[in-house]
Amino acid sequence: MTDPIFNLYYDEIYSSGLDPSARFPVSRYQKLHHRLKQVDHSNSIQWASPDLAKVDDILLVHDEQYVERFLDGQLTEKERRRIGLRPWRDSIVERTLRLTGGALAALHDIFQGQFIAGNMAGGTHHAFRDQGAGYCIFNDLAICAEKALQEKDVNRVLILDLDVHQGDGTAEIFKQDDRVFTVSLHGLNNFPFRKKVSNWDVGFENETGDEEYLESLAKVLGHLRSMNFDLLFYQAGVDGLATDALGLLALSRRGLAKRNQLVMDWCEEMNMPMVVFMGGGYAKPIEDTVDAFTDLFMEAAKRVKKNVTATGSFPKISLDEVKYKGTEPTW
Ligand SMILES: [Zn+2]
Repeated sequence: MTDPIFNLYYDEIYSSGLDPSARFPVSRYQKLHHRLKQVDHSNSIQWASPDLAKVDDILLVHDEQYVERFLDGQLTEKERRRIGLRPWRDSIVERTLRLTGGALAALHDIFQGQFIAGNMAGGTHHAFRDQGAGYCIFNDLAICAEKALQEKDVNRVLILDLDVHQGDGTAEIFKQDDRVFTVSLHGLNNFPFRKKVSNWDVGFENETGDEEYLESLAKVLGHLRSMNFDLLFYQAGVDGLATDALGLLALSRRGLAKRNQLVMDWCEEMNMPMVVFMGGGYAKPIEDTVDAFTDLFMEAAKRVKKNVTATGSFPKISLDEVKYKGTEPTW
């Protein structure tokens, strides 16, 4: 019997579909793909190019007119500016459908019995039902959550958003929906400047470092342990890195690697399957982002090789010990 393999979805269009002169660091997907093919144990990743997302799946979440206008190249200049992937190119349409397709394909792997699968892009948490923002056009987390809830065995989905920017689109989409619990740990002073209300928000001051961040995360995970989720979507942005150009926190590569381990240990302990959504990362130099994402996906690949059993390594942190700035969770 061969070892199980981590399915990671990627297509060249993730980079090539954007204009090379865009402020967005378009090369990061290519660079990360290249790196992940060269690291030790690179054969534990099974690469697959996703199909385009079906419009019906996108319509599970998004407004029909918005979807149609995007597909027809009819978004206004103002709408495109808000999304920010400029200069705009027609290939953004195919890129967006393929990238959303990557998330749906990873979710499908979970339905087929995989414990963990991922898409090497996405985590497009700033997209609302009827508009995009902050490099996000369709909200792949929300689309996958709706898709998962159609499965008979999925009743509650946890979206754990550890990108440095608040998951405002996701929070707003599910604000009245008890089936999806949205958690966002983010920089208080980062975009979006008007935050939405997630089920649980934890905001950090500028320059927050590893220790405080990881303590807060451990506390959040400790609380969530009793909530009986069927599935986790992990938005694993690495823009909390100290060298990130768009983040204001001061996390280290080591701290982010530890973060991923905490989340994945916790998932194993809960025996809860996970889809990894890549999220943001805009470090200068971009190699720092590539390093941190390499750690993320190799950690995920490692988890596939293990049997799904509790590791017992999750730290038991008393709530009183934790300096904590978040609001209490609401359901
Ligand atoms: Zn971000």
